[in-house]
Amino acid sequence: MNNKSTFSKTWFVDIDGTILQDKTNDEIDKIIEEYGDDSYLHEVPIQDSIDFFRSIPKRDRIVLTTARTRDHINHTIEALDYFKMPYDDYVFDLGSGPRILVNDIKPKGNIGNTSDLDTAYSINVERNEPNIKYQYKKIDGTINYQMEATPIIKQLINE
Ligand SMILES: [Mg+2]
Repeated sequence: MNNKSTFSKTWFVDIDGTILQDKTNDEIDKIIEEYGDDSYLHEVPIQDSIDFFRSIPKRDRIVLTTARTRDHINHTIEALDYFKMPYDDYVFDLGSGPRILVNDIKPKGNIGNTSDLDTAYSINVERNEPNIKYQYKKIDGTINYQMEATPIIKQLINE
């Protein structure tokens, strides 16, 4: 793994209410039953979110996370591909409760950093009106602030 991929970010991104207008598994069952192979055309994209994820660096990874059941994978992936949502992987069948991301702090000096680096962040967005770009601004500021204390990483990220 080269240095660039070492410092890439990984995004765990919800689907319903975040990338597509919120639908329940029951609602998806109904549109699959009614429209068959064309069911994906009955999903509604949240274009601002898709545009945001199309704008992040290509080296970043996107893992979609959803409480949609596995029998809805084909329908959902067809919709996401149709709306040109980028992603590297996906996890279906998650719970509908809160999602908690856990990661260890990179201690000072670990990767040439001159102070400890936080490695876990989260964003809560309004359903169907997520405005991720605005919400992420604050986190991006914090990350950049920490990176500024780490000229080696900053240089690699900007390459
Ligand atoms: Mg959701």
